[in-house]
Amino acid sequence: MAFFTEPKTERYRMVSRAATGNSTVIDVGGVKIGEGYFPVISGPCSVESEEQVIAIAKSIKAGGAKILRGGAFKPRTSPYDFQGMQAEGLELLSLAKRETGLPIISEIMNQSQIGLFEDVDIVQIGARNMQNFDLLKAVGSLKKPVLLKRGLANTIEELLMSAEYIVASGNPNVILCERGIRTFESMTRNTLDLSAVILLKQKSHLPVIADPSHAAGIRSLVAPLAKGIMAVGADGIMIETHNNPANALCDGAQSLDLEQFNDLMKDLKKRAELEGKEI
Ligand code: PEP
Ligand code: MN
Repeated sequence: MAFFTEPKTERYRMVSRAATGNSTVIDVGGVKIGEGYFPVISGPCSVESEEQVIAIAKSIKAGGAKILRGGAFKPRTSPYDFQGMQAEGLELLSLAKRETGLPIISEIMNQSQIGLFEDVDIVQIGARNMQNFDLLKAVGSLKKPVLLKRGLANTIEELLMSAEYIVASGNPNVILCERGIRTFESMTRNTLDLSAVILLKQKSHLPVIADPSHAAGIRSLVAPLAKGIMAVGADGIMIETHNNPANALCDGAQSLDLEQFNDLMKDLKKRAELEGKEI
């Protein structure tokens, strides 16, 4: 059958760099993501309370973050772990958006939740759902940007084809995210694949960001990896922060505290100047 002899590159033709003459820059409520920009997305793994999310949002905004993240629906490995505040979590994230003016991003786990994401500026597809093709098609019918995270054991080409699902379904506003892959290494949670950031930028016109928090799983690795991510040419970064990491309900070990985040921001701002990127 002709389908099987089709060249592989044709399988992600809309997101391929060859599809457009230039790099796609996505505008999220005035915040630009794409070539020439390096927006920092930050916030807690999970929204836990009004006090928590507001305190974090205010602090990271003062430090220079451009977008607030916060999980409301959490894909946890154990069913006994905190599953997120769900709809209430999204309401608290909206409240933090109104208080600070920061656009917000949160993870959607299935298409039945779409109605709850009206006020969310960027819909996140998590690593575990990268090949949930029905969900990809469903967010392809939305107008708002989608952050697509690479699966734990997915190839770069598979990530591009998942992005193609969204774009081919009618939504051109896709941001790719490298977040570490599973390897034989057990001292880190995952292994950050910096080559993927470079190759994705070479193969696709879409913005490419990286998440050092989930890649490392260890707080002390986050700032050095963030510098590496900027150095290889990523278009942004997503970092988990918490006002009290030791008592976080999710991913505390990889979360920066607010002071550590602001120190990192000072460093990244200097580097952005050298790279000619707007942070
Ligand atoms: C997250 O961003 O909180 C998350 C669950 O990430 P990932 O899907 O990359 O594991
Ligand atoms: Mn997390």
